[in-house]
Amino acid sequence: MRTYFRKAQRNTLHVLVLCLALPVTAGIGWVTWELATRLFAAEVATRAQALLSVQSATLESQLDKFRLLPPLLAMRPDIRDIILDGDRVSGERVAAIVAGMAGAREVTFLDTNGTVVASSHLSSRIDPGREEVVDPMPLAEALQGRLGRAYRRGTGGAPGSYVFASAVRDGSVVIGVVAVRVSLAEVEQAWALSPAPILAIDEAGEIVATNRPDWRGQPANDRLERLGSERVPQSSAGAAADADAAATEAAYVRLRDVPRRGPFLMMTRTLPVLDWRIAALADTADARSQGDKVAAIAVLVCLLMSGIAWVAAERRVAVMRRMREDRLSALRLERKVRLRTRDLSEANAHLAREVAEREAAEAELRLMQADLVQAAKMATLGQMSAALSHEFNQPLAAIRSNADNAKLFLERDMGERVEAGLDRIIAMVERMAEISRVLKGFSRRAGTDLKATALKPVIDETVMLLSPRVKQGGARLEARHLDGALQVIGGHVRLEQVVLNLAANALDAVEDRVDGVVTITTRMEAGQAVIEVRDNGPGVAEELLGKVFDPFFTTKDVGKGLGLGLSIAYKIVHDFSGSLSVGAAEGGGAVFTVRLPLVQGLSDAAQ
Ligand code: ADP
Repeated sequence: MRTYFRKAQRNTLHVLVLCLALPVTAGIGWVTWELATRLFAAEVATRAQALLSVQSATLESQLDKFRLLPPLLAMRPDIRDIILDGDRVSGERVAAIVAGMAGAREVTFLDTNGTVVASSHLSSRIDPGREEVVDPMPLAEALQGRLGRAYRRGTGGAPGSYVFASAVRDGSVVIGVVAVRVSLAEVEQAWALSPAPILAIDEAGEIVATNRPDWRGQPANDRLERLGSERVPQSSAGAAADADAAATEAAYVRLRDVPRRGPFLMMTRTLPVLDWRIAALADTADARSQGDKVAAIAVLVCLLMSGIAWVAAERRVAVMRRMREDRLSALRLERKVRLRTRDLSEANAHLAREVAEREAAEAELRLMQADLVQAAKMATLGQMSAALSHEFNQPLAAIRSNADNAKLFLERDMGERVEAGLDRIIAMVERMAEISRVLKGFSRRAGTDLKATALKPVIDETVMLLSPRVKQGGARLEARHLDGALQVIGGHVRLEQVVLNLAANALDAVEDRVDGVVTITTRMEAGQAVIEVRDNGPGVAEELLGKVFDPFFTTKDVGKGLGLGLSIAYKIVHDFSGSLSVGAAEGGGAVFTVRLPLVQGLSDAAQ
């Protein structure tokens, strides 16, 4: 969804850039083309108009020069006389001089009938008296007293000429006509310098003079095709040219023989004296192609700007996207941190609760274990009480009988026998006192203070305590002290309780055997004191090895075992910073091994 919106946003921006860029580019291209074309066309128009002004001036000045010549000549008396006299020889001489000096093509003197009297032209000598030299129209006009004027087409494709004619009077009587023919070749030569076509068109629409010789004498419309109503550019010339411009017409034309060129801008002006129109053609192709180029450059620049705008839009979108993503990931991170912190504080609180619970449970356990130790001691004491009462009763009975015997021996005065009996009584009382002492210590709650404890007395007392039971059963209980007087860190009574438990269990295990043997061995090993209680009973099954130290684990019948002996022993050994382990003895049976830190160099008196 987010991707869709992102794409949509990106597309919108791009569509916006496109929507703006394309019409703007097209608009700028069109406006630039229009302005540039107009500008260049105006330049063309200015040039064409300038050309037209100059070239029409050339024609006008050329003709003007000769316009006044016939009236001036008509006033000369010698020419009047020549016409009156029909003096051809003098006439030809005068005409030749005038033509030569004025630069006219031909100077002719005619009579009122139009017959040539004399002419500067050579042909008139060959064929004097010809009548077609001067057209009827200028002759008639001249005879009427006006300035006769006519165009004469050139022969054999040569440039045409113009004829001015003026009446020659004798007093007030018209006696003849002076005609001056001016060649348009010079004008055409001047025009030939210009590459643009220049035309002079007469009233009939015929091309009378041009710098394109093949057009001469042809109707202008055969050569030029006027184009429709295209707007003609205003000349860019200044105010000085305004008068010229007013007299100038402009139109677009195409050359009929080369229709692919152009269109040409045709600037036309009328020469009022001649009733001719002078036209200068300017090719607008260059202006158009320049306009095209400028428009193309403008379009290219616009496209370039659009491209830059496009790239900028892309960058902006990318930057915005990156910023949004950064913001999102920062928010996500913040939320994650918040959640983690909450989880952590919850876990912390949970842990703190658990620790408190554990501590409470441990304290309770410690209390329970201490109670259990005490209870187990009392239970062991209870178990042993029957055996002990038997143990006490026997010596008591023996003391009684020895005392009785001693009394009898005393009466019979048998002193030695009395002494022997009393010694036995003392020995038995001492033993009973010993048993009582042990029992007293056993029933006392063990202290937490540790001190150097000799191993041998502990083992020996245990053996002694168990001796009534050993006597009852058929098994043997042996103690072996391999490494002399070992001392460990611990407490005498508690250590005795450990060994007593282990040895009692061992005796229980060999109960059913005829050759049951329980061996308690003390030795030093790897810097530690080792007490090993080994029997040749059935041993501890492998799957039970990990369970025997658990409190209340027992395989014995109800009333026989509490399942506390080993767990208490384990706890006591650990209190002494030692270890208690169980394994299998070679040849069957179980081995319980107690390892305790050793005290060396301390005497038995330390306990
Ligand atoms: P209890 O003697 O009251 O059963 P203990 O904790 O002293 O409790 O012993 C737990 C169990 O360990 C015994 O029930 C017995 O199965 C097993 N056990 C202890 N000592 C021996 C041994 N020497 N040989 C075989 N099994 C033993």
